[in-house]
Amino acid sequence: MAQYSMYKSHQGGNVLAYNGHEYLYKRSNQDGSIVWRCQKYFSLKCHVTLTTKGQQIIKQPNDHEHPELWNRTNDALACAPKTTNASEGYHHALNAMFSCHHPGVWKLFQGIKNDIGVQRLVAVQTRNGIETTRNKYKALAETLSAKVQGYGTEPDKLRYLRQIAHLQVS
Ligand SMILES: [Zn+2]
Repeated sequence: MAQYSMYKSHQGGNVLAYNGHEYLYKRSNQDGSIVWRCQKYFSLKCHVTLTTKGQQIIKQPNDHEHPELWNRTNDALACAPKTTNASEGYHHALNAMFSCHHPGVWKLFQGIKNDIGVQRLVAVQTRNGIETTRNKYKALAETLSAKVQGYGTEPDKLRYLRQIAHLQVS
């Protein structure tokens, strides 16, 4: 089921956020459905619309010809990574595995072999339901997800931002 979120713009209008794009109210239809058009309608001449009825999206938007917003809302909701720290960590581990910056070809093969071993271990652990993410980060992601879900109903957006900023690994 398609998920969207709704919040108020600075001007007080409703903004619908879906898949990294924002939509503004365009019109209501006789059947009670509402047509929303891309927030970039005026600035970028984007004509993409979507239609909602109640809580459902009944007409999906076409592809926008401009980039998505830099927005990690959906990642936060899905408890997915919001930074590239995991890649940084992996690079660091690779560096440590080779223990030098310009390995020769045999050292490279040995390093790749070692890395394959590590990745196989992670795959087996995951398949057997062994948690590889540390619990404190998982708990933090879940706390953040719950907080972000409440964005629409939080009347004081500044307080919301402060609370997000002060979420900590316990
Ligand atoms: Zn658009």
